[in-house]
Amino acid sequence: MTDAYEALTADLAAADPEIERLIEEEGRRESEKIRLIASENYVSEAVMEATGSILTNKYSEGYAGRRYYEGQQYIDQVEELAIARAKELFGADHANVQPYSGSPANLAVYMAFLKPGDTVMGMALDMGGHLTHGHTVSATGKWFNSVPYRVRKDTGRVDLDEVAELARAERPKMMICGGTAIPRTIDFEGFAAIAREVDAVLLADIAHIAGLVAGGAHPTPVGHADVVSTTTHKTLRGPRGAMVMCDAAHAKAIDKAVFPGLQGGPHNHTTAAIAVALREAAQESFSGYAAQIVKNAKALAEALSERGFDLVSGGTDNHLILADLTRKEIGGKPAAKALDAAGIELNFNAVPYDTRKPFDPSGLRIGTAAVTTRGMTEPDMDRIAAWIDRVIAAAKAEKESELDTIAAEIREFCKSYPIPGWHA
Ligand SMILES: *Cc1c(COP(=O)(O)O)cnc(C)c1O
Repeated sequence: MTDAYEALTADLAAADPEIERLIEEEGRRESEKIRLIASENYVSEAVMEATGSILTNKYSEGYAGRRYYEGQQYIDQVEELAIARAKELFGADHANVQPYSGSPANLAVYMAFLKPGDTVMGMALDMGGHLTHGHTVSATGKWFNSVPYRVRKDTGRVDLDEVAELARAERPKMMICGGTAIPRTIDFEGFAAIAREVDAVLLADIAHIAGLVAGGAHPTPVGHADVVSTTTHKTLRGPRGAMVMCDAAHAKAIDKAVFPGLQGGPHNHTTAAIAVALREAAQESFSGYAAQIVKNAKALAEALSERGFDLVSGGTDNHLILADLTRKEIGGKPAAKALDAAGIELNFNAVPYDTRKPFDPSGLRIGTAAVTTRGMTEPDMDRIAAWIDRVIAAAKAEKESELDTIAAEIREFCKSYPIPGWHA
């Protein structure tokens, strides 16, 4: 491994020691903790180098061959490479790699297909959907008529018969499948059949699972959904950014919505890093990584179940576990805070039909992408479950010294799994 960290920070240390120190401390934190936030990962040094490159200097509003600024000899090639790799990896006719992040990518899709006030049907936030799927506090809920669907209370899963019934009653112009806290396989084909029946556009938002789709560990929405949006920084393991993919018929509408509809100049350094990440995702080893994420999640789910944790839907098919702490008699927030103090980083999360408040809900969301990137495997998941269990018990008994003890054990454990771009 090259020493990219020092190469990237030597000038920073001299020019701005305060920021350099904070980056160093964040590197230590990311290295010493078990990071289980389901939307996070560790990118490669190659991705980091592209992100930190001179491409950040360049303005390039427009698309390759049709820019509003001169000097695009190399930027056009960078963006065309990213697009070609996205199309190849996901089998899509068209890809737009310019969205600044997942939220603006989704807003661009609304802009391409809907007018303000039109009806959109996405999964409710407290059922596992995303803010941008029509939640009331989001522009997508304020400017559009949102009719959210839910999961079944008894199974914790989407019931496509219920979704179809709601769609027939509400006649949405767009339906969205995907979300941020869905532990189960998404039936893209089933959603597509409903969307077709009610004449709605189907958007599959694969932000969380894009790496699993690319690695063959989750079915693909391509060929079923009209449009696919994704972030590039979650399981896909690229820089913070996003893409929108679609068939040829919708290409123009999507491109126009991203630019000039919603954005100005693309972030070319990010585009280059997306291209690098897509190349990495096309390697043989990436499908091993994707499969291991799921194996780890299943192992962790089982190890938690054995220790008396209730899991929404009873387990997981992907990278994500949603634990309901009701029976453990502790709120999600105090549990997450205690876990963080003990070296396990995750987030509190609502569970479907939560009876507690959104800022102190009943659940914990747990993801295995980042630990899988570090090389952890099933036996490690059993150890992690044992630590989680000890932390919850210690938090309930208010034994803070036990949290310190566990944090020290975890620091030691993490030394065996170095992270890219930082060293002790
Ligand atoms: C993370 C996420 C987004 C938003 O991405 P940002 O980059 O945070 O704006 C959108 N949709 C889903 C399903 C997500 O999980």
